[in-house]
Amino acid sequence: MIQAPLLELKNVSRRFVKRLDTAARIGNWFGAGLKEEVVRAVDGVDLSIAKGEVVGLVGESGCGKSTLGRMAVGLHALDAGTRTYQGTDLSTLSGKAARAAQLKIQMIFQDPYASLNPRMRVTDIVGEAPVVHGLIKRGEQNDYVEKLLAQVGLDATLARRYPHQFSGGQRARIGIARALAVKPEFMVCDEAVAALDVSIQAQVLNLFIDLREQLGLTYLFISHDLGVVRHLSDRVLIMYLGRIVESAPTDAIYAEPNHPYTQALLAEIPSLAKRKRTYIPIKGEIPSPLNPPPGCHFHPRCPHAFERCKVDDPKLKEIAPGRMSACHLNDRV
Ligand code: SF4
Repeated sequence: MIQAPLLELKNVSRRFVKRLDTAARIGNWFGAGLKEEVVRAVDGVDLSIAKGEVVGLVGESGCGKSTLGRMAVGLHALDAGTRTYQGTDLSTLSGKAARAAQLKIQMIFQDPYASLNPRMRVTDIVGEAPVVHGLIKRGEQNDYVEKLLAQVGLDATLARRYPHQFSGGQRARIGIARALAVKPEFMVCDEAVAALDVSIQAQVLNLFIDLREQLGLTYLFISHDLGVVRHLSDRVLIMYLGRIVESAPTDAIYAEPNHPYTQALLAEIPSLAKRKRTYIPIKGEIPSPLNPPPGCHFHPRCPHAFERCKVDDPKLKEIAPGRMSACHLNDRV
């Protein structure tokens, strides 16, 4: 049975404009002809996540995955498209209803140290938001924080300490406790374990899995690392230059990747079996979100590209039950 989506983004886009600085504007007075640069970070993406699902979002740096995660949370406004939560368009809510809906969607940030205020004790970092939003009373804060710290595997007696007194793994757990403090249903984890040692990564990933089972959480798990995403995702989305190019259940995408970009990403996962790599130079210019090529954005790097790929933008379409891919090769079979 297909479940109704908990969070749904429809045809969302986000662009960033780099304005001309003073020197460039003066240059233009003398005919330099400089223009503002527009980065197409997210370009017409559809994303639908069911309750209890864990969706991994993978792509290389600069592909727009963090921007898409921030759009899902509401930290970046949408230039186009809609964001709905439990069937309600979030842009139609205001005041108390908007705040209540927003609390259900939380984000865990990439750098656990930079995202914690160094001047605040852990008890205030974790306990401030639930008090401010009226989820608990001020007098209940210490007990509430101690329970949360225990839930994420930290010693509750450490609540009076400051962030610099913790290791990287412990700070990641504090960030998770802070997100849990407002009783979210949906969490966007943006490279949440990227800054950790491999052994600590495994512990924190296991914590995410345990919390999902205990609290029925739904995750959008963003990573550049296909190995990390495989560990806990039900479904994986592959993003390239602002677009989703493939979506499939986790087992299927690792066993039989369809899109040439997914195949290239999987080929890059280090393994003991691969002792030697052959460097194959990219033909043509390296595409960037600043100046994406026409047609299929991947065509300058794709070994299968044919003439149509240079002019015709392949749409994401179903290639098998539960599997979507955006590649013209699928039209040929
Ligand atoms: Fe390669 Fe063409 Fe498919 Fe793009 S559409 S991935 S260039 S075969």
